[in-house]
Amino acid sequence: MKRTLYLKLLLGYVVFGILGFITIATFTSNLVFNYIKKDTASNLYRESNLIASSYAANYYRGTMTLEDVTSQFTAIATYLDIDIWVIDKNGHILINSREESAPSGKIEQFDITAFGTSYSQTGHFFGTFQEEHLSVFSPITINYKVQAYVLIHKPISDLIALKDGILNISYMTLAIIFLCAFVVLGLFTYTVYIPIRKITYAAQNYTEGNFDTQINIHTNDEIGYLAASLNYMSTELSTLEEDQRKFIANVSHDFRSPLTSIKGYIEAIMDGTIPYEMQDKYLNIILFETERLNKLTQSMLELNKYGVKGTMLDISSFDINNTIKMVAQSFEGVCKKKKISFELILTGQTSFVYADMSKIQQVLYNLIDNAIKFSHPDSSIIIETTEKNEKVFISIKDTGIGIPKDSIKKIWERFYKTDLSRGKDKRGTGLGLAIVKDIISVHNENINVISTEGVGTEFIFTLPLTQDKSL
Ligand code: ATP
Ligand code: MG
Repeated sequence: MKRTLYLKLLLGYVVFGILGFITIATFTSNLVFNYIKKDTASNLYRESNLIASSYAANYYRGTMTLEDVTSQFTAIATYLDIDIWVIDKNGHILINSREESAPSGKIEQFDITAFGTSYSQTGHFFGTFQEEHLSVFSPITINYKVQAYVLIHKPISDLIALKDGILNISYMTLAIIFLCAFVVLGLFTYTVYIPIRKITYAAQNYTEGNFDTQINIHTNDEIGYLAASLNYMSTELSTLEEDQRKFIANVSHDFRSPLTSIKGYIEAIMDGTIPYEMQDKYLNIILFETERLNKLTQSMLELNKYGVKGTMLDISSFDINNTIKMVAQSFEGVCKKKKISFELILTGQTSFVYADMSKIQQVLYNLIDNAIKFSHPDSSIIIETTEKNEKVFISIKDTGIGIPKDSIKKIWERFYKTDLSRGKDKRGTGLGLAIVKDIISVHNENINVISTEGVGTEFIFTLPLTQDKSL
């Protein structure tokens, strides 16, 4: 699966980091530097004004000596890390706060008008400094006449150092934001991206018809709801598929058994195995089976109306003793061949039960069919009914090969056949008992098996008794 969403997120994250860095390095850097320059210039201008109107004016008025003024300037200059000069109109430096490194007495190209309308400028101050400086000036006015100027210089490198300090703080802030974004990205990956990948994976499986994939997300949000809905959908689809398969398997099985018996009798009639005078009896059996097939087709059509899931029961009261006799009779041909006899031990003349007759016929048919198949020749099968607590217990018992202990639980599974039976019954599909179990279950009744390998098998199921004897 392509991880495009995740790549896009990662790319966005990296682009965010790079753009943040570029913004700080260019735009923010310029803004901060201009701000610092403006702010420093205005502070220095205030300072120069103060000096021009106090110390410098006092010097010109003669109330302060040159040494006193110079020492005051040195103190202020050291404190503020600046250079303070007093310069006359012609460029002669009269006082210098840093006497030892004072420039030569006169600045040749000095021209105060070079400042224009501003009180500050940046540059090398008429070629005086090697390094760029920010310079501000204030005139010293005595008796309304400009006597000289106070000039304050500050190296631009100081301002750049201040700007770099502030930028470092910005870079650190960006790094913290970047880290926070990483945590958010991780959280997003965990809460959104991984669940979406799980859902996509499951959806892909669903499109391939594999509905077993369950999405393991149990959060109480939109993604959680989506996962739960998809899980529900897949379960429904898989049971639908399973039901359909089951339905088709059951139908084919239900059709095969009566057809086999009809075919057997017709062949026997045609090749003369059944003499003419006996044909009536077998034609009746054939009719019985044909009717069963007819009924089966009808109930299937009916079932179709209610969807594959619904099992429609056509409940009525009927005599189970009679049904047993009829079903047993339909096996007469096979029994004769194998020399197997039936022993019917039925309670009373009649025993009315309340169930779906055709389905119970199918149960009896499947159980007797098994009993015959897995019995040895020359043996007998006992079919017995017992009434107890409003129920009738129907038992089909043979003395055949029996079922191995570890297979007992599996015989109800669809398509299961024990190894023992494989050799004996090559045509068996292993569906008979699964159908029996389903039919008894939808009747809300029980079926049990008692079997010992090599001794025999007994199947017992229950049906509800009824007093209603209307057929
Ligand atoms: P089908 O009924 O579809 O023709 P089947 O008879 O093999 O095939 P089931 O009726 O479901 O299938 O029975 C499942 C298996 O249980 C059989 O294959 C057999 O191994 C075992 N079994 C069922 N009844 C008996 C029995 N009376 N004696 C011994 N084994 C039995
Ligand atoms: Mg069977």
